[in-house]
Amino acid sequence: QLKFASGLSRLGTESAFMVLARAQKLAAEGKDIINLGIGQPDFQTPDHIVEAGIKALRDGHHGYTPANGLPALREAVAADLHRRHAVEVNPDSVVVVPGGKPTMFFAVMMFGEAGAEIMYPNPGFPIYESVIRYSGAVPVPIALKEENGFAFSADEVLGQITDKTSLIIINSPANPTGGVTPRAEIDKLVKGLQDHPHVALLSDEIYSNMLYGGREHVSLLQYPEIRDRLIMLDGWSKTYAMTGWRLGYAVWPDACVDHVTRLCINDHSCVNAATQYAGIAALSGPQDAVHDMVAQFDKRRQIIVDGLNALPGIRCSDAAGAFYAFPNIEGTGLTATQAQDLFLDKAGVATVAGTSFGAWGEGYVRFSYANSAENIREALDRIAKLL
Ligand code: PLP
Repeated sequence: QLKFASGLSRLGTESAFMVLARAQKLAAEGKDIINLGIGQPDFQTPDHIVEAGIKALRDGHHGYTPANGLPALREAVAADLHRRHAVEVNPDSVVVVPGGKPTMFFAVMMFGEAGAEIMYPNPGFPIYESVIRYSGAVPVPIALKEENGFAFSADEVLGQITDKTSLIIINSPANPTGGVTPRAEIDKLVKGLQDHPHVALLSDEIYSNMLYGGREHVSLLQYPEIRDRLIMLDGWSKTYAMTGWRLGYAVWPDACVDHVTRLCINDHSCVNAATQYAGIAALSGPQDAVHDMVAQFDKRRQIIVDGLNALPGIRCSDAAGAFYAFPNIEGTGLTATQAQDLFLDKAGVATVAGTSFGAWGEGYVRFSYANSAENIREALDRIAKLL
């Protein structure tokens, strides 16, 4: 009998990977599967970024880099944040890590332990709750409701703060709902946090480039009054279609930079060098590919939202950000997992049950529109026939 550490039994997972595996298995058996379960852009990394990665390898960048990332990359991040959010960021506050997830893990390791409470969005990215539980802290859900456009309510967040609260995680634009929290609500949260100086904030802004219908992204970096306890997470995975490269970063408060750098040194030493050079090219080069991709997403979003609303028993609020629609399926009489399984097994359409994103996702199914307009239309037709 191996003596596994007890924390392992508390560690969760990301069911989207399981759905993907099932969809791939069905496809391998010859079934015609349309994958709307996936959480990554269906675009290739733009050529000039790929070339920069190849060139870095050819130029001999094969060794370790500084643990917090190449200085030129951290400077490019600061310049990009200035360009997009009109904020000043010291490149020394930027810590580059392999993807978006490590920042989450390190932030929760830094602030989570038995006796602490950490708030997180529900339904939300499943890794939040998983790593909070793993740390031993108590996960305190922030309910995201359809009637609020899946934005969080500042009053609800503030009302749940106790003297044990060490960290609050927010995410806008959000996975799985596509919800975008309006500026007024964020203003209110930041104002209320002034009464709770012991609470750190992790703002997951990985979808910061993907907003539709004239909405603007509000970065928490725009609030100087909480910079001393804000961790702002963003990265390359979604914006530059680079999920497999593994590249992300966060801007950390001064008090945390040394801690997170030590976590990086203990965990992975540094992100691989060629990927970091590709990351510089992504931020410093032309942004046309990003704009084209977002324009494509917007078109598909309209197709999927309209199409879902036309189905019996289904209603879908207009997903304002990211690349997910999160329709309410209660009117079909199916539970979230029943709908997910039926859509895959009987219609060949892979989606992810809302309950994969927390208990409060019951009654919903996540549709990713990172697939062609043609496939989205076909998927909607198949589900219409099924229902
Ligand atoms: N944050 C959110 C809200 C996400 O949806 C994802 C990926 O799906 C991530 C972070 C993680 O991104 P990465 O693949 O860069 O680790």
